[in-house]
Amino acid sequence: MHEMSLAVAVVDQVEAAATSRGAVGVSSIELDVGELAGVVADALAFCFELACAGTVVEGAELITRTVPGTARCAPCAEDWAVGMPPRLLCPGCGGAADELVSGRELRIREVRWADPEVREGRRADPEAPREEHRHPITEEN
Ligand SMILES: [Zn+2]
Repeated sequence: MHEMSLAVAVVDQVEAAATSRGAVGVSSIELDVGELAGVVADALAFCFELACAGTVVEGAELITRTVPGTARCAPCAEDWAVGMPPRLLCPGCGGAADELVSGRELRIREVRWADPEVREGRRADPEAPREEHRHPITEEN
């Protein structure tokens, strides 16, 4: 896997989503990265910094979650964690795995948008009736 192309793809997708919803910034992006996807998290983080420079995504925190690899043997109806390096023979019968159930994921799990009030500052309306709500942080006896 080429981390740079992955980073660019993530930034492109989040940028498109930000444009369509009028978001002013991105607080964080959480990715699911399969253990067997061949992505080096450090390299991805580095490429992400480069890819998001100058975009609405710049400054977002990249959170990478590793999804463990799991394989399945159909005759035994058994799933097992393949680990790294991957063990693709069934621990039950020694046959080859029929399928990888998980571990090759590369997907955006969650995007947190930046709070617009933080960027734009609070607008004060001089016409608005003044009302004060003072709630003490500690109880006053
Ligand atoms: Zn088996």
